[in-house]
Amino acid sequence: MSDYAATHMRVLRRVRRRRGYCADCGIAQSETYVCADCREKREFAKVQREQKRLEQGLCLECGKHPIDWINISHAFKCSDCSKGVIIRKLKNNEITNKLLYDLMVKHQCTTMQLAEYVGCSQRAVERWLFEGSQPQLFNALEVCHYFGVEIDEVFPQVVRQILA
Ligand SMILES: [Zn+2]
Ligand SMILES: [Zn+2]
Repeated sequence: MSDYAATHMRVLRRVRRRRGYCADCGIAQSETYVCADCREKREFAKVQREQKRLEQGLCLECGKHPIDWINISHAFKCSDCSKGVIIRKLKNNEITNKLLYDLMVKHQCTTMQLAEYVGCSQRAVERWLFEGSQPQLFNALEVCHYFGVEIDEVFPQVVRQILA
């Protein structure tokens, strides 16, 4: 959109709102900024936009920079958009379970999502990824179920412990 068109659009929205109409369509009367129909359209567009960004590996917030996978706990954002959040800066060689890490990247699964599925804390998932700690058998099985992999692929140490 050109600068002129953008300004025109802004003015138009303001006029619509002042008259009590939806800022998007200008047809429906609305107490809120946009009417219910247009809100639904906006939501749908947002989901589509995010889906596309995710497929391209781009930050869901700005859509400009690649997702910072080292900080996957921060929900698919680039390092810029994660700023202000306390981030544990990690170098690649600090990943202690590379197989689990790769699975999470491949399935675009955040530490938050995995923790929710397994029913453990997000901190626990971080410990498996970055601190070399091993999950309990039940949790390890849940992780494997999530990704559709065998336990000895991802947590060979857990298996070794059982066999010991
Ligand atoms: Zn509308
Ligand atoms: Zn961003």
